[in-house]
Amino acid sequence: MMVKRGGALLLQSGRRPRVDGFALVVSVAGLSLLGWIVASGSVAKSGPDPAQFGLLVAFVVLGELLPIKVPRREEDEELTTSPTFSFALLISSGVAGAALALALAELCAYFFRRKSLGRSTFNIGQSTVALFAAAGVLSVLSEVPRGRSPFFETSDLPAILLAMIVFFLTSAVLTATWFARRHKVPVFDHLHQDLLFRAGVAGASLALAPVVVLTSEHSLPLIVLLLLPILALYKGGRQAALNEYQALHDDLTTLPNRVLLHDRIHQSILGMERDKTLVAVMLMDLDRFKEVNDTLGHHSGDLLLRQIGPRLRSILRESDTIARLGGDEFAILLPNVHDRAAAVQVADKIKRALDLPFEIQGLKLNIEASIGIAFAPDHGKDVESLIQRADIAMYVSKGSGSGYAIYAPEQDRHSATRLALVGQIRQAIDDQEISLYYQPKADLITGQVRAVEGLARWNHPERGLMTPDDFIPLTENTGLIEPLTFYLIEAAVRQGRLWRDAGLDLVISVNVSARSLLDHELPDHIGDILKKWNLPPKAIRLEITESTIMEDPVRALEVLDRLSQKGIGLALDDFGTGYSSLSYLKRLPVDELKIDKSFVMHMHEDENDAVIVRSTIDLGRNLGLEVVAEGVETKEHWDKLTELGCNMAQGYFLSRPIAPGEFMQWYRQREATLARADDLHAP
Ligand code: C2E
Ligand code: CA
Ligand code: CA
Repeated sequence: MMVKRGGALLLQSGRRPRVDGFALVVSVAGLSLLGWIVASGSVAKSGPDPAQFGLLVAFVVLGELLPIKVPRREEDEELTTSPTFSFALLISSGVAGAALALALAELCAYFFRRKSLGRSTFNIGQSTVALFAAAGVLSVLSEVPRGRSPFFETSDLPAILLAMIVFFLTSAVLTATWFARRHKVPVFDHLHQDLLFRAGVAGASLALAPVVVLTSEHSLPLIVLLLLPILALYKGGRQAALNEYQALHDDLTTLPNRVLLHDRIHQSILGMERDKTLVAVMLMDLDRFKEVNDTLGHHSGDLLLRQIGPRLRSILRESDTIARLGGDEFAILLPNVHDRAAAVQVADKIKRALDLPFEIQGLKLNIEASIGIAFAPDHGKDVESLIQRADIAMYVSKGSGSGYAIYAPEQDRHSATRLALVGQIRQAIDDQEISLYYQPKADLITGQVRAVEGLARWNHPERGLMTPDDFIPLTENTGLIEPLTFYLIEAAVRQGRLWRDAGLDLVISVNVSARSLLDHELPDHIGDILKKWNLPPKAIRLEITESTIMEDPVRALEVLDRLSQKGIGLALDDFGTGYSSLSYLKRLPVDELKIDKSFVMHMHEDENDAVIVRSTIDLGRNLGLEVVAEGVETKEHWDKLTELGCNMAQGYFLSRPIAPGEFMQWYRQREATLARADDLHAP
């Protein structure tokens, strides 16, 4: 039995490899030797017993026709028993018969199993060369083949053993070289990895060749019995290979896993120095995969993940690797590209391939991905730094929505600190470094503060007070946004309870990001929190933006309806900045419209802004909504908005967001001023 590189590729590829010079030399050498055998008629001289000879040839051919496929690192391999029987032929009747039998077997495989011509020719070449090398050893050290019974003496065994080693090594080195060139991996590294596996299976089965000869000499039918231990070896080898395969591949997708990816990147880096090319490592993360999982269930998510490999395989080269690193994260290794543009082209192709919808259980799903690219040697010469940098680039690409990004050292410090921040958020929640500041909203007519908006602040031990734009967007693509949202909502509800207990009846608004709004559990979860703190739902209001809703209107509407049914108030934030669709607005169960601060702040200088402010107020009032103006910075703003019929104002003119511990004092002070003031309209 022998391990042979053969078999179908795990996944097909459109490209055919070019004819390799090395393969050509080996093929020509083998074929010339075969030609010489035929021309010299040396087969006729061999084969003392036609029945025995015929049976052994039959086993050689059968072995080649019925190989066992074994999944291995780069491609499937085949285990065949042919070499055992052809080596038996070498001992009993000489190199000519053995070589012709193997060539015949390979030809049959070519015709009946549609193997490729190039591969078959190379196999004939390498096995013939290996057999001749072994025959050379035998003829120098022994009288084998004697051509008559007994075919060998005990004293011939050392020579036979050495011949086997030579046969095994020659075949292994030739095949490994061919394979390494084909997959562009360093020969020695590959040989080193592969030799153990080959020696275990192929070496052990070759050792049975003398036993086959002895048995056939004694009684031909007994050979059939010998098939049992040979098959056992087969199975053992296959199992060992399977175990190794499983350790290196992802169960769900059967794609190479992180371990194998590391190994391949390492190989490619070694190869790159020789070939003076670049190695490109791409990390790819599916955008919004979590939504697929959440809405359609994990099974559908799994089905989707399984389709990624085949979809990408069809546009990549045979020598490229697609690995799954876990979750919805994949890696693509291009082991040798000439320049960056070539890798960018591949990234483009990947994006386009993913643009076509995926069909999952009858549903068509659109998936987008963010890709980060790093190159060796430019961005690192070791596996870890390459992967880390591709990861940073992926992060940048996700943030920019550009689809892909090449690692740039400038991004690094920025991204590294951002990454570090993401890593600290959970702890910051536990340590209560993140809290809500409260910015009051006042009635424009009475000047009375009736509500507040909670705005997240992170009091970072090293960076000081951070505003939400510095950290909320970082959490939005991670699993952190949910715990953060719930933590902040609970903070607001708890504060509401405290204020009520102190006689302060304020509606508290909390901002909710898209991810959280699409979370089916949000309404029940908020319900639980309200119950826990014994606060009526009306005391809480959620601020959402149009763009948040537009990410997935159907689902958002579902969640909004349930929130509204629970009596939780809703405000449409940043109104005017999105693609407001009036028909949507009518269907949304909102209570409040917030005019974006950019319009309010400029309404005195910019006529367009003034028009937007005016018409938003009219629209809101006609729909029976409470209209709140943000960004009210001056008395001018305040007066104008009052005149236009706006209900409430929020902005620096009234107050900046106030730390929770200071709010009560601010509020009492304002109440006192209001009571003293003649002009109730002013703050
Ligand atoms: P937003 O909801 O539009 O919040 C109003 C922002 O305008 C706040 O910035 C506030 O400090 C600022 N602002 C208030 N009055 C004035 C004014 O008169 N002039 C000017 N120039 N600005 C004013 P902040 O606190 O930095 O929040 C930025 C954004 O971060 C918020 O915009 C909101 O979308 C988001 N955000 C804040 N807190 C949270 C939160 O707890 N969760 C989520 N998901 N997002 C939050
Ligand atoms: Ca807001
Ligand atoms: Ca706003």
